[in-house]
Amino acid sequence: MERGPISFARVRCMGRVLIIGAGGVGSVTVQKCAMVPDVFEHICLASRTLAKCDAIAARLKRTIRTAQVDADDVDQLVGLIRDDRPDLVVNLALPYQDLHIMDACLRTGVHYLDTANYEPPDVAHFEYAWQWAYHDRFSQAGIMALLGSGFDPGVTNVFCAYAQKHLFDEIHTIDIVDCNGGDHGLPFATNFNPEINIREVTAKGRYWESGQWHETEPLSVHRSFDFPGIGPRQMTLMYHEELESLVKHIKGLKRIRFWMTFGEEYLTHLRVLQNVGLTRIDAVEYEGHTIVPLQFLKALLPDPASLGEGYTGRTCIGCVVEGVRDGKPARRFIYNTCDHARCYEQVEAQAVAYTTGVPAMIGAMLVLTKTWLGEGVFHMEQFDPDPFMGALKEHGLPWEVMPWNGSI
Ligand code: NDP
Repeated sequence: MERGPISFARVRCMGRVLIIGAGGVGSVTVQKCAMVPDVFEHICLASRTLAKCDAIAARLKRTIRTAQVDADDVDQLVGLIRDDRPDLVVNLALPYQDLHIMDACLRTGVHYLDTANYEPPDVAHFEYAWQWAYHDRFSQAGIMALLGSGFDPGVTNVFCAYAQKHLFDEIHTIDIVDCNGGDHGLPFATNFNPEINIREVTAKGRYWESGQWHETEPLSVHRSFDFPGIGPRQMTLMYHEELESLVKHIKGLKRIRFWMTFGEEYLTHLRVLQNVGLTRIDAVEYEGHTIVPLQFLKALLPDPASLGEGYTGRTCIGCVVEGVRDGKPARRFIYNTCDHARCYEQVEAQAVAYTTGVPAMIGAMLVLTKTWLGEGVFHMEQFDPDPFMGALKEHGLPWEVMPWNGSI
């Protein structure tokens, strides 16, 4: 029998976690899991490059296991999972690996969690259909997949569930706003994996209104927003994956959009890179070698995990929600601000990796402690937001709710 999502009060329960991916986000999640030994009894960090796992492990105050794995090879993954016996696999590799890791979880009967939805390597297109197709098989296997447990998607989905549960009787519109007001001191660098970042930013914009999706040209629609702790910034409409699940799960919704800010330097560099063909994802022949220009560009750009030192300023990400409360129109902004330098002091990471890595740890904690429990494939907003919201404050991502009177 299929069981839907269930949220329980947190019970004391320990567990074993296998984290795949030793990049900027993986490094934060491993460090934060290591700080909660009463839940994360055993941690294994596995990635394509063993030396990166070992370098992260060397920074910890407790011993964890490290391993080399090619997460595109399901048999290798199954071998590692059988050997390490985790209760949960946390996928912090790239979206290309999602389905392979889900297949390995199905074969071994182990829960799954990720922070980004599946993308095929050869098409710059992302949607949840590929992962939703696993729902029945996960349900029959009696395991759960928790999708998108980063910040956006992730915390933004939980903010919406919290607004639905505590702040509104009806929700009509949601605008998710994401600002990195920080400065890493480099002319051009991306704050998470460059290949995934550039594919996302150069895609067409998309938003949902009156029951339909509407498409806009890439980076063509702009609005101004006054971000707490940062100030007014121009932001740009984009498509982002959490829109797809929130449309299904937030009742009565009439419109939902996603906005992100970009610096002038970033946009100018991106335009030039696009114009000269360096963001192409098709293979080209160069002196007898086949190369994918965007992958080559990634090799030249700074590693996002290396950006932490000297990074100043803050991020602010949140949800502007409009609707009705007690028969009257209501508007609230639920948000977090995060300081790059304070993240670096704590885990030697910048705030974009931190704001993704901490929610991945919290999602893992709620699954391992059976606070969030289900059989099948689930999104964050399908569970009780309260334990997650409490854990955000406890583990370094405090949030605020404020009345909001502007317009977007
Ligand atoms: P990085 O590129 O820094 O790290 C990715 C890691 O995965 C690297 O260690 C890489 O290995 C490893 N990896 C890649 N391919 C394989 C493979 N086939 N087998 C094993 N390991 C592999 O990325 P980030 O840490 O910046 O991002 C991690 C994930 O987080 C991405 O999916 C990204 O989209 C997502 N994200 C989600 C956000 C959210 O808010 N929801 C925000 C930011 C990021 P190697 O070191 O050898 O290259």
